Amino acid sequence: MSTTESTANKSDSSLDNKNTPPVLPTQLQPVQPQEFRHHNFADMELFLRKYSSEFPAITHLYSVGHSVEDRELYVLVISDNPKVHEHGEPEFKYVANMHGNEVVGRELMLNLIEYLCRNYGTDPEVTSLVNNTRIHIMPSMNPDGYEVATEGYNGRNNSNNFDLNRNFPDQFVTITEPKQPETIAVMNWLKSIPFVLSANLHGGSLVVNYPYDDNKEMVTQYSQCPDDEVFQQLSKTYSQNPMMHNGHPCENLYKNEYFTEGITNGANWYNVPGGMQDWNYLNTNCFEVTIELGCVKYPWAKDLPGYWEQNRRALLNFIHQVHTGVKGTVSDISDGTGILNATISVQGIDHNITTALTGDYWRLLTPGTYSITASAHGSGPFGLLKFPIVQQESMATPLLEPSCFLNLLPFYVSIMAKIQRSLEYVSAYYKT
Ligand SMILES: [Zn+2]
Repeated sequence: MSTTESTANKSDSSLDNKNTPPVLPTQLQPVQPQEFRHHNFADMELFLRKYSSEFPAITHLYSVGHSVEDRELYVLVISDNPKVHEHGEPEFKYVANMHGNEVVGRELMLNLIEYLCRNYGTDPEVTSLVNNTRIHIMPSMNPDGYEVATEGYNGRNNSNNFDLNRNFPDQFVTITEPKQPETIAVMNWLKSIPFVLSANLHGGSLVVNYPYDDNKEMVTQYSQCPDDEVFQQLSKTYSQNPMMHNGHPCENLYKNEYFTEGITNGANWYNVPGGMQDWNYLNTNCFEVTIELGCVKYPWAKDLPGYWEQNRRALLNFIHQVHTGVKGTVSDISDGTGILNATISVQGIDHNITTALTGDYWRLLTPGTYSITASAHGSGPFGLLKFPIVQQESMATPLLEPSCFLNLLPFYVSIMAKIQRSLEYVSAYYKT
């Protein structure tokens, strides 16, 4: 019997109890995934092809390259215009199974694909997420490792026996191991799409790990990045599930390991030189965290429904985070065209981001008041804006209220006249 069935039975038997909160009619509840089993490469490929052909309007299946043994590194996009970047719409990604023997993420990604596709057009949350976000899902970054994986260590590395999460260029250490085909493919992929937010799904513990993952001294201590607050907020969004939030996950394996609120700075746990999340942050506009989904890396298939149940809310909430902070467009006042590669700086945070092809940008921020500057082509700063980001009430509400930037409009106009460039905020922040 599945968990869903047992819950349904429970609520049926308690219908007479007047204290029971009203249960939504079955037809209004989102459809839960039905396919809970382990998928080897051939099965996974079939699954992805099935969903891309059954839901052509909202999916696009592509490959970013090949593994050592020539398997495709598949990505399924789910969005209302899946094949193109829409101006102003943020790009989000999940990458799973980078360690071939950590398989829960891979199956959760297939569950998520099923959930998003089957509920699009009927469930308001799914419909809004899919319409307003371009969601890229890579269920396996290490398909070769998976094929030989067992519980334990087998299959962790790629087919050349390199650990892919130690294979990216590092800010403190020179990585001497040859860059692997999977690593190169992912690096090129991340350079080709203006990703804003990402999570890298692993197994072996139960915690959200955020940058930096290492430090110069290679010692276990907090290695703070300029966006530490943002990363803590992002991590806590995911760690809200009760088991992770508890923060003492694998008692049998690591008796003395505690993670306050289920999150940890990477280097404060252990040093990971050459990791993927830091490379994202330091070389692209993408903020990535690493999520450890459970103490067991390769659980029995019968346990998979439980993992979905435990993670489904967190997986959706984390995608919603791509709509927090501030977003907008930098454009040339003479002809209105967007400016590529303009720099967006936030005073007090030593980490700039740049605009995408049509001048659009997304800057993840925690609630607060910020001075934000845009500059382009060596012209120096041409806009200094101050506005508050209000506390988010619900996950789907944008942080930036329309009134905040309407009030600022006259200010923009004066800047435009002076420097012949405009800095404009998109007023329809969250399309309905
Ligand atoms: Zn791992």
